[in-house]
This record gives sequence, C-alpha cells and structure tokens, in this order.
Amino acid sequence: MTVTTRFAPSPTGYLHIGGARTALFCWLYARRHGGRFVLRIEDTDLERSTPEAINAILEGMSWLGLDYDEGPLYQTHRFDRYREVIDRMLEEGTAYRCYCSRERLDALRADQQARKEKPRYDGRCRDLTEPPADAEGEPVIRFRQPRAGHTVVDDQVKGKVVFDNAELDDLIIARADGSPTYNFVVVVDDMDMDITHVIRGDDHLNNSARQGNILRALGVEPPVYAHVPMILDESGKKLSKRAGAASVMEYRDAGYLPEAVINYLVRLGWAHGDQEVFGLDEMIEYFDIADINHSASSLNPSKLDWLNQHYMKTLPPAHVARHLAWHLGAMDIDPGADDGPDIERVVQAQAERSKTLVEMAENSRFFYREPEGYDEKSARKHLKGSDTVLAALVDALSALQDWHAEAIHQAVSGVAEEQELKMGKVAQPLRVAVSGGPVSPPIDITLELLGRETALARISKAREWALQRAESSA
Ligand code: GLU
Repeated sequence: MTVTTRFAPSPTGYLHIGGARTALFCWLYARRHGGRFVLRIEDTDLERSTPEAINAILEGMSWLGLDYDEGPLYQTHRFDRYREVIDRMLEEGTAYRCYCSRERLDALRADQQARKEKPRYDGRCRDLTEPPADAEGEPVIRFRQPRAGHTVVDDQVKGKVVFDNAELDDLIIARADGSPTYNFVVVVDDMDMDITHVIRGDDHLNNSARQGNILRALGVEPPVYAHVPMILDESGKKLSKRAGAASVMEYRDAGYLPEAVINYLVRLGWAHGDQEVFGLDEMIEYFDIADINHSASSLNPSKLDWLNQHYMKTLPPAHVARHLAWHLGAMDIDPGADDGPDIERVVQAQAERSKTLVEMAENSRFFYREPEGYDEKSARKHLKGSDTVLAALVDALSALQDWHAEAIHQAVSGVAEEQELKMGKVAQPLRVAVSGGPVSPPIDITLELLGRETALARISKAREWALQRAESSA
C-alpha cells in the first residue's frame, strides 16, 4: 500500500511553528517512502475558519517548500459525501438517531456529576426501533460505540494506549441540522483519502480511539497513529503567541531562510544521533517515526540563528541572493535595477557577518543607496581629523588602473605606510566614509563592490565633511 500522510490544518489562524512541524514530519515520511502527501483544509467550523487563514497556510507551506501531491482538499466541499456515509451507517446500524432533548441531556449530566461519574450519554435511544412518543424536532445521529472491552491505540510515539470502551461515549456524528461533526469528518476523509499514517499533535491522542472505532465500523482498518509531543518555549512553558506560536511567515520577515527554518523544525522533536545540520535529502533519507522524541521539545532561537548563518554561508549565493533581494525590496531597493554591485557578491561578502537576511539587507543598504548621513559616534571617532588621510586615499585610489580588491588593498596600505599610520587608522575612516557606519565587509572588497566612481565620490564627500568640522571647531 502506498504510504499516504496528510496535513489537516483548521484554518482558524496562520501556519504556526507547531503546525509547520507537523506538516514537515508528514511530508518527510511520505517522501521517504515514495508515498503521497495530502493537504486537507478542515474548514467545517464555519464561524472560526477564514479565507485569510487558508491563504496564510498555503503561503506558509509554499515558502517552506512543502509541496503536496493532492489538495488542498476542503471539507466544506464534501458535505454530500459525509451525508452518504451517515446514511450508510444508519442503514447498517452502526449509527442511530437520538431524540433526547437538551433538557434531558443537561439533567443527565448534572446527575452524573453529582454522583462524581464521568458525564456521558446513557444510550437511551441506542436500541429504539421508532421515535419515542415525546420526540421533538430533528434527531442527532450518534455512533454506536462498542460497549464492552477495550480499544487499543498502538501509537508509534506514545506506545500502546488503552481506552476502556465503557468510557467512550456514543459520539454525535451529525447535529440536528444534519451537519457532520469534527471527529466524524476526519474519519471519512482519512478513509476516502487512503491515509495510511496519521502524524499529528498529541492533543489529538484521545480522538484516535473514537476515530479508529468509527473506521472499524465502516469496515476499514485504522491508519497508523503517531502523536507528536508539543513544543514548549525557551523556558519550558506552553507556547504563547509571542514566544513562537508565531506564524512561519514571521520567520521569513525576520530574515530566516526556509532551509534554516526547516532544519530547525525537524530538530524540534526528532533526532538522528547528534547531527544538527540536515540537507533536505538527508532528512528524507533518515526521517523515521521511531526517532520522534517522546517528550516535548523547546524552542532554541540561538540555534535557529546559527543554522541560518550556516545556510547563508553554504547555500549557493544565487539562492541566498533571491531571498536577500526580497528583503531589499521591502526596503524599496531593487538590486536588479538600482545602481549597485552584483547581489551574489554582496551575499558572499556579507554572509560571514550577518545572522539574518534582515541584518544582511540593512548592512548592505549602502551598496545601493548613498548613506543619508554618518553614524554620529563613528564620524566623531573616525572621520574627524581624517581629512588628510582621506585626501591621500582619493589620490592613491584614483591612480589605480585596476579596480580590484587586491590593487585597492595595496593602495590603502600604501597610504597607511606613507602617513605612518596603522592600517585601522586608515581603513576605519574609509569605511565610515563609504558606508556611513563602522561595519562593512573587508574594506578592499567593499570598495571593489561599490565601484570606483561611487567610492571616490563618497570619500571626497567625507573629506569635505572632515574639513568643515575641522574649520568649525578651530
Ligand atoms: N484540524 C486539526 C488541527 O488543526 C488536525 C486534525 C488531525 O490532524 O487529525 O488541529
């Protein structure tokens, strides 16, 4: 049988880190086994589902590169099918009509609570052959849950979980208005979509006994279940919005590469020895449900930073450049059209000194835009009193035949020697002059990337500034 997994988000919010991890695990398992991965949108909660959330989920999946073989399938498009299965179950006797009024059920519950029993339906309508005399309105439909014995869920992460059937209610599968309920539609979908492996958050573990029993009543063997422990924040608490229940797209906006986020996600709850860095191919080769952690995992933002830098340094510059271009675009810079260096070379020059693409973009702005002014502290420290050095640099650099890092380096060290200054005393004023601040890639590379004309113009301008400062403080 073809391994088939599904990611089944309820579109009530964006794709957050826990959902993305579930999606990744399902995707990896399907890919590892040459199987199918289905995206199913569980949108039957009409009040809480929104089109914006659906788009956010699709956008998140696409940014992460989690492609699906089938879908997105929408549960709201399948109501006729659910009705059909309900009719079949009524006919076969695995479901029955329940006419109990709300008042009766409330009284029953209150009674059970008073006796300290677990509230559950008492099965009054379970064996009726016709509606009771006091029936009012449309009935709900209940699943005829096996009464005796146990249901065992052989969970691939949690181990064997045993449910006493007497504890499992005769669950409502369709409301009085005919609309099907959550646990029921999941079952019909898992059956129709030939799902072989259900990998999902462990908040659904209790549903699996009910879902498995409905499947058996329909003559279908339940899928393999694997319930993944939750993700905690850095301090070991349940995720709050701020601490990383954040949308996957916020990770993009904060400057992380999808490759880094995927690698970070896979390690949140799965391990392969003590390896930390996994290319996609390796993840696919190694991923196994058996290696999913049994306990909750915690967010570790510094690991994500580390992974991000690793991927910025090691992925092909052209690939990183595409993502950097997106961030520059957000700053209104079009590296393709604006005057400036080849963006791939910017990536190569900056990868070492940036943790995120946002940092890289901010630190690279000066390549594409003239700095609006000088960072005050740097100007005071490095530009003031540097007019002679800057003048000498203009002379030496203008004389260069070749505008290449090596020749630039020679010229700059020539000036240092001539002025009897340490290299830093020349390079720092130069850096502030061309970039506006104290940080840039090595100065020779920075100048090469800026180009002769821009570099010389900026150095001359900084010299003017230094001269004026000297005069005004004289
Ligand atoms: N729609 C459910 C959720 O978003 C997932 C259900 C499932 O995977 O079976 O939590």
